[in-house]
Amino acid sequence: MSRVYNFSAGPAVLPEEVLKEAAEEMMDYKGTGMSVMEMSHRSKAYETIINEAEADLRDLLAIPDNYRVLFLQGGASQQFAMVPMNLFKNGVGDYIITGQWAKKAYQEAKLYGTANAVASSADKTFSYIPDVSDLPISEDADYVYICENNTIYGTKYKTLPDTKGKILVADLSSCFLSEPVDVSKYGLIFAGAQKNVGPAGVVIVIIREDLIREDVLKETPTMLRYKTHADAKSLYNTPPAYGIYICGKVFKWLKNLGGLEAMKKINEKKAAILYDFLDHSKMFHGTVVEKDRSLMNVPFVTGDEELDALFVKESKAAGLENLKGHRSVGGMRASIYNAMPVEGVEKLVSFMKDFEEQHTR
Ligand code: PLP
Repeated sequence: MSRVYNFSAGPAVLPEEVLKEAAEEMMDYKGTGMSVMEMSHRSKAYETIINEAEADLRDLLAIPDNYRVLFLQGGASQQFAMVPMNLFKNGVGDYIITGQWAKKAYQEAKLYGTANAVASSADKTFSYIPDVSDLPISEDADYVYICENNTIYGTKYKTLPDTKGKILVADLSSCFLSEPVDVSKYGLIFAGAQKNVGPAGVVIVIIREDLIREDVLKETPTMLRYKTHADAKSLYNTPPAYGIYICGKVFKWLKNLGGLEAMKKINEKKAAILYDFLDHSKMFHGTVVEKDRSLMNVPFVTGDEELDALFVKESKAAGLENLKGHRSVGGMRASIYNAMPVEGVEKLVSFMKDFEEQHTR
């Protein structure tokens, strides 16, 4: 068996320990004689799996008691609709546009009411996070929406916006569990699992209890109401059962590692290796303003499209996979999520050094 270093933005690398354990349990989960994939979501064994997953996640993030954890489906994109459908009272949401995912959420909200773009970094290809200290928040805004880590552009909020008392809603898909987060600062957090915590098909929602309402937009389907899933403890219908089981294993892996403070330190170390190299290279350049750099997604370019393409080709041959930048921006992007080992980043930098030497005349 040979595994590559996988720098994909998602679905992305998972901890090897988790994959090995899942493989060992594949045919017979803890003496049940069946795979978790084959197991009723109403069984005792599965109840333990989902309850433990929630308890471990609560531990990791120190989630306050007045927040509910929901394991849902439909990907992060479904939250773009569920957020306005469930949180609109006045029918107004304020959005900070820091990239394609924020923009998609903003456009989706417009289907259900008024979405205001209160700040944007579109003027410089989303290479920075706008000043969020004094935003023109709408008086009747039901919430302020951010995409906290911008997967495509490689930016991350280092301070949360001043929402002037409004509820903060945040898409944490690409930085979920990469560092500690003060959940109490948010009304709602959501994250697709397929970057930092598990397989695609699971989206995790952490929502303050008072925001789980009956009086949501009238047309909201039963399946798209937070209340439906909160009341049924994420078991209203068949959940993405196997995916939740893997997420649970990742939560345990994080706890064994020492929790999110420890994870953050490792992530900072990995990112520093790559950014330090980029800052000193004559060939490769990071594309993001230094203060807003993501620890998770690191886009870079040579400035020469042919050289970029050659780099992607040669790096793949060297066992460094998925370094091609997002189709909308080109260049390269290294996604170095929680499960990417330090050695993977060291190998990438060493490859970049060699490439630079070989292609500099
Ligand atoms: N939000 C962010 C920040 C993302 O990076 C992505 C996907 O890459 C999405 C939302 C969309 O996620 P999904 O494909 O699960 O709908």
